[in-house]
Amino acid sequence: MAGSITIFLDKCTGCTLCVKACPFGAIRMSDRKAVIDMAVCTLCGACVSACKFSAIELKKDEGAKKDLSAYKDVWVFCEQKKGVIQSISFELLGEGRKLADRLGVRLCAVLLGHGVEPLAGELSERGADRVYLVDHPSLGSYQDDPYTEVLVKLALEYRPEIILCGATTIGRSLVSRVAVRIDAGLTADCTALEIDEKERLLLQTRPAFGGNIMATIITPNHRPQMATVRHKVMKEAPTRKGHKAEIVRKDYTEEVFRSRTRLIDVIAEIEETVNLAEADIIVAGGRGMGSPGNFSVLQDLAKVLNAALGASRAAVDSDWIPYSHQVGQTGKTVCPKIYIACGISGQIQHLIGMQSSNIIVAVNKDPEAPIFKVATYGIVGDVMDVVPALTREFKRILKR
Ligand SMILES: Cc1cc2nc3c(=O)[nH]c(=O)nc-3n(C[C@H](O)[C@H](O)[C@H](O)COP(=O)(O)OP(=O)(O)OC[C@H]3O[C@@H](n4cnc5c(N)ncnc54)[C@H](O)[C@@H]3O)c2cc1C
Repeated sequence: MAGSITIFLDKCTGCTLCVKACPFGAIRMSDRKAVIDMAVCTLCGACVSACKFSAIELKKDEGAKKDLSAYKDVWVFCEQKKGVIQSISFELLGEGRKLADRLGVRLCAVLLGHGVEPLAGELSERGADRVYLVDHPSLGSYQDDPYTEVLVKLALEYRPEIILCGATTIGRSLVSRVAVRIDAGLTADCTALEIDEKERLLLQTRPAFGGNIMATIITPNHRPQMATVRHKVMKEAPTRKGHKAEIVRKDYTEEVFRSRTRLIDVIAEIEETVNLAEADIIVAGGRGMGSPGNFSVLQDLAKVLNAALGASRAAVDSDWIPYSHQVGQTGKTVCPKIYIACGISGQIQHLIGMQSSNIIVAVNKDPEAPIFKVATYGIVGDVMDVVPALTREFKRILKR
């Protein structure tokens, strides 16, 4: 945000209220007068409201207001790894299609990488009207600097109205950098998107205050409206065989592809069972499992069902199972056909990550546990009795 901030020294009493109010530590006292470090100040205005003596004045630069009508189209940043488009990109194209149709604009895919031109066809068959393609050796593996620089350049030239990106490790790192560079609004970790057609506003819904409320965030004064969206909360775009998108190939000078970091190696995480986010069946354990050793009964059940192993944060925080297995607000969002929750109470932060599962089976010794409110089938009992019994029965029926 452009603008200026002034301290009227004659009014400043040296009370230090502004120092305490500044969330960025940008104000210090010198000779009992407030001094602002402009290299740190973000012009957020917290000090202005805190000052009881009207000693601070903030002027925001109205001249910097954007012409919002110059921004058109819905963009989806399509993440690919080693030449494979990640499924989150198809989910975003599905949602982006709906938004673009309601706004009466094009749905555009942004594809960055090296040797990725063949993937453009896949994106057009998933409904993209246009694909922006930048192919360069420096984009072969994800690196913050060149990816940011390229997306910034594209956004400044073509001015999209909306940019969607997966709330993945790459997406989170990339679009936050881009948003700052192009002075855009960004809502992270959305679980629902809607359009206010009249105002052309993207209504971005995400959990807030520890998941106790769902907040809908709008970006009325800036464009593009940018959002990262959680994996597995939107439906994938259907394939439209033969659908052809316009391909816009862009090339930039070598300067644009420069990186301050160098990728030395990529070490894939070793998953003991199938990938949690992609699994059809998940067996998950919580604090009610009682000990790390007791997770072996869940592993036995997971093996018989060819399921992935999930966990509540309580189990992860107790070091019973690695974080990569955590389901929920601060873990993974999953949407399997069957989710079997064992010794998990069903706090909202856990439910956010799994409540869209097709079938939920809950095993808990407390008949009043909140998990039973979302469960399709509930079993009241001790996990150490019920889970081995389930394993035995499935083994018998499935002949495994
Ligand atoms: C900002 C924030 C983010 C969070 N993010 C997440 C997240 O991503 N994922 C997540 O899971 N949590 C998250 N939490 C934590 C969440 O609030 C809960 O604390 C957590 O989910 C509880 O885990 P639990 O159900 O395993 O444990 P508990 O709530 O302690 O429940 C244990 C359950 O096991 C049952 N039980 C006990 N013994 C047995 C037995 N022998 N047999 C059968 N049942 C038994 C009990 O009746 C109880 O219902 C977050 C919290 C905050 C504040």
